[in-house]
Amino acid sequence: MKIQTIESIVRANIAALSPYSTARDEYQGELGVFLDANESPYQNGYNRYPDPHQKRLKAILSKKKGVNAENIFIGNGSDEAIDLMFRVFCEPAEDNAVAIAPSYGMYKVAAAINNVQMREVQLGEGYSLPCEVLLAACDGHTRLMFICSPNNPTGNSFPRESILRLAEEFEGMLVVDEAYIDFAEQESLVGAIASHPNIVVLQTLSKAWAMAGLRLGLALADRRVVEIMSQVKYPYNINQAALQIVEELLSNPIDDKVAEIVSERKVVAEKLQELSFVEKVYPSDANFLLVKVDDADAIYNHLIADGIIVRNRNRVRGCEGTLRVTIGTPEENVKLIKSLDVYEKKSVVR
Ligand SMILES: *Cc1c(COP(=O)(O)O)cnc(C)c1O
Repeated sequence: MKIQTIESIVRANIAALSPYSTARDEYQGELGVFLDANESPYQNGYNRYPDPHQKRLKAILSKKKGVNAENIFIGNGSDEAIDLMFRVFCEPAEDNAVAIAPSYGMYKVAAAINNVQMREVQLGEGYSLPCEVLLAACDGHTRLMFICSPNNPTGNSFPRESILRLAEEFEGMLVVDEAYIDFAEQESLVGAIASHPNIVVLQTLSKAWAMAGLRLGLALADRRVVEIMSQVKYPYNINQAALQIVEELLSNPIDDKVAEIVSERKVVAEKLQELSFVEKVYPSDANFLLVKVDDADAIYNHLIADGIIVRNRNRVRGCEGTLRVTIGTPEENVKLIKSLDVYEKKSVVR
């Protein structure tokens, strides 16, 4: 890491912040008479404020992820963690951020909301990581760089060595979004946080863990980064219902379901490749396939008419002519292919 300390790139007002504290932070016992928070005393399971530090959930995640609890930040989806990166590290109208493109849309939206310039760098040939161009896009005010791996919507992962090189050369925080890491063969970069304290790894419970409706995202990072993010977040950002349900759901293993998605990904890719209007199925390490077709809008509309919704990426620079298709259950995937078979027959007649 080229920056001297993490603190040296935190916004001055954030570094000087005295965070909101609750009276319960000072009480360590189990039982008590809680007359400190103006809650209702009548028990219904939700009358008390939730734990702002999410200690129990962090203990569970710590075991699952093999990282210390002090290296885990839990957000209201990864989207909260993305927004916090800007609020902690970027002075509005002054600092900027760099991201690969095409990639996840929220980086740009969060930058715009925080009045931070986003410098997008198009991926290279075959959606490869253009390390030199990314570094050249930085200046003295670049505080954040976003790399999504496996990348949404292209589906590919980037080489670990390249990402580590970026962390070493870049003089800011490198955010590595691993929303789809559970579907990839590649190892997570979580293990590199200790040696590269300017790496923040984002993971989510929304994809492989099947909890998109609960809104839980993780930032796995250096202890100091987690500490500052925690001071800036809303104190009770994770509600009691979500905490209870996620703790329960995390005890169900996901390995079989992830394995099924990965094997279905191969089946669907092969089937798609046989269709005359499919020009290319991009290799994927995620739970979706990016598919280049001869007429993306027409096929999109055909599927919609059949009640099948995919993501049309035709108007995204670098993804012209593509649809992004999520892998569903085997039955859903059969429906998709059947519908596309019908479209193929129709287009032959045409
Ligand atoms: C789906 C997705 C997320 C998940 O966001 P949540 O707010 O945790 O649901 C994060 N990053 C990428 C690239 C995604 O595709």
